Amino acid sequence: MRFFRERRELLDTARRMSSAGLSHGTSGNLSTRVERGLLITATGMPYDEMGTEDMVELSFDGRAPLGQRLPSSEWRLHRDIYQRRADVNAIVHTHSRFCTTLACLRRPIPAVHYMIAVTGGSIVRCAPYATFGSEELSRATVETLGNDNACLMANHGMVAVGADLAAALKIASEVELLAEQYWRAIQVGEPRVLDEAEIAASDREVPELRPARANHTARARLNRNPFGDLQIEIIFACLFYRDCTQLARGGRQFKRGKPIRVRSKTQAC
Ligand SMILES: [Zn+2]
Repeated sequence: MRFFRERRELLDTARRMSSAGLSHGTSGNLSTRVERGLLITATGMPYDEMGTEDMVELSFDGRAPLGQRLPSSEWRLHRDIYQRRADVNAIVHTHSRFCTTLACLRRPIPAVHYMIAVTGGSIVRCAPYATFGSEELSRATVETLGNDNACLMANHGMVAVGADLAAALKIASEVELLAEQYWRAIQVGEPRVLDEAEIAASDREVPELRPARANHTARARLNRNPFGDLQIEIIFACLFYRDCTQLARGGRQFKRGKPIRVRSKTQAC
């Protein structure tokens, strides 16, 4: 199996997201960047029933090895973010309660707490509504996300990105907490919003905001290194040639190159 370590990490992060209460049932999805593509959680499966084989491999041109489950319906969104942002290596999409509540109001989260700096901006914007899984939704969300680390998705949920899965999940968790704090504050009054200077100061002074940013730069450099990708490709080719040959002899399909077709029966997220 290709990318076993990445599959294991993606599965562990999916289960942490679920146990943290950031997703309900089969909602939400996660992915991580691999060479020339991504691994993304399968559609319509509870996270505690998933195995490493349910992490679906896709290339950036929309192709996938045969014999896999269908990917999450939001695979276009994940692919398009990776193609737009070289600094992003992991994406977490959730329908978490408070983010989704504000997203249903199409209400962005202002800087009511300094921890908003973890998102890379001073506001968590809300992307316009479009049908789940559509190219239009992907386009609108990528545009709204811009260079930030998170945004809301109108009448849907939120998306968070990071240099690795741990960073993306941490940002998703922080944004959900911000959404809850903002929601609670507006129940009793009009919260005071911090100005840009305070957010910039927080970004400099809060140690826990720094690692993800430093990693962003380092990993972005790695993503642009074609020799690094080539070395990894050669190692995997050597390791898995024998296994693939044996499976092919046993009648299993292992031919690459079938375009992804998301069928109408695909479940939301
Ligand atoms: Zn969704």
